Amino acid sequence: MREYELLIDGETLSRTERETVNDPSSNQPVSSIALANESDVTSAVEAAESAFERWRTVDTVSRGHYLRDIAAELRTRKTEIAQRHTEETGRSLLDSKRSVEYAAEYFEYYAGLTHRINGETIPLSHEEFDYTRREPLGVTGHIIPWNSPLLLGSRSIAPALACGNTVVAKPAQLAPMSILELGRAARDAGLPDGVLNVVSGSGSTAGEALVTNEKVQELTFTGSKTVGLHIRNLVSDRLIPLNLELGGKSPNIVFADADLEAAADGAVKLFSNAGQSCYAGTRLFIEDDIYDEFIDHVVSRIEAMDVKKDPNETEISALISPSAQSEVSSYVESAIEAGGSITTGGRIPFGEGNFYEPTLIENVPDDAAVSCEEIFGPVLTAFRFDSEQEVVERANDTEYGLYASVWTTDLNRANRITEHLEAGTVTVNNYASPIPQVPFPAYKQSGIGSEYATAALNHYTKIKNVRMTVDRTLR
Ligand code: NAP
Ligand code: MG
Repeated sequence: MREYELLIDGETLSRTERETVNDPSSNQPVSSIALANESDVTSAVEAAESAFERWRTVDTVSRGHYLRDIAAELRTRKTEIAQRHTEETGRSLLDSKRSVEYAAEYFEYYAGLTHRINGETIPLSHEEFDYTRREPLGVTGHIIPWNSPLLLGSRSIAPALACGNTVVAKPAQLAPMSILELGRAARDAGLPDGVLNVVSGSGSTAGEALVTNEKVQELTFTGSKTVGLHIRNLVSDRLIPLNLELGGKSPNIVFADADLEAAADGAVKLFSNAGQSCYAGTRLFIEDDIYDEFIDHVVSRIEAMDVKKDPNETEISALISPSAQSEVSSYVESAIEAGGSITTGGRIPFGEGNFYEPTLIENVPDDAAVSCEEIFGPVLTAFRFDSEQEVVERANDTEYGLYASVWTTDLNRANRITEHLEAGTVTVNNYASPIPQVPFPAYKQSGIGSEYATAALNHYTKIKNVRMTVDRTLR
């Protein structure tokens, strides 16, 4: 078993309080992780606060170099970090290597933007000169989920550092290794001590200690709506910026005029990472005229997917934990009770590991639990629709608003539908993964704040306006 310790102020600190991480595809223990207590979190925040005084003065070009060095270190250690990522998430090594590359891309992308953290000049009267500065916030807290830990951690840590902030990161207990590896890689790449600290530990202890620490000037949380709202309540007496990146129940709408092969490929993207993705297209709306034909396309793709115990051979990875597996089972049972039918899948394929077959459910009402709640498993629910008006209403009939997708060859229709869908991202004729260059905003209960692209630079800085009287008389 590998041992992982806390990373505070550049030091690895061992703790006797520990937690075991299990491999989701075998449930065998793979590592022992130090658990941070409240005073460890306090030390991490204090280290980050004192490092901030130096880090904020590092010029933007040098800050860019630091971020590029982190990216290079991640690439150098790609195989090793990917192995840990596979052990903690159950995803294939290939998939995990891609995650390391994406993580590196976040650091490279924001490295390139450090010199674009611009203010503006505002013309006033002849005697006045006004300009704005974008200043860093201070210590930022990052609470990270298990479903794609390295990538989701990097997407907020990279812009926070680029803007001159320091970081205390709290990875998920179920999958902390790749974030601890990121911390080590950053330290070994030369990032000054205290600029990036990692406090592995539980949400209720380490997470809450971070959230309630008054020296923390910003919080980024990615995870469930329940915990997100709880965190918002915990900070309700402090005016700090909050990024809450929460769940989704995304509609994927296929019109009869679409390229059905491409749309079916898009529909089954849900099954990558076993549906454990916030923007997964879990509600598949199919126009009546092509419903049966399209279902055939989807079923043939699902039935060609192999579920195997070896994470490098399976097309559907294991679910994160035994309890996640039984939750998915209960959802599928509830669909049958609600009058639904299982077209394919619907079973636990073997006793070992937390696998679940890729599953298609039909004929459930819109108000069934499987139609409304985030399942976070390999379960797709198909619905039939007749008109644009109807499908837009049903697609929007959810508390979430993270992502939506439309498949049609009619440009006018694509524009009409995208305008009316209540989602932060709408894709047309693709089901694309989020990338650093484009924003990933959230509507409704899917979140607040802004990650990705230049929006993140605004989030991780505050504006100072400087208004100056100028004597313009030449002497
Ligand atoms: P979660 O249970 O909400 O946990 C997320 C993180 O919060 C973990 O690190 C957890 O620690 C910590 N936490 C739990 N209770 C806490 C508390 N009281 N105070 C502070 N921190 C606390 O979410 P999850 O089950 O890991 O992740 C799945 C959810 O994330 C889904 O809803 C998914 O849609 C959402 N998600 C959203 C996005 C997005 O970009 N919008 C991306 C990915 C995932 P522990 O380790 O102790 O659990
Ligand atoms: Mg949880």
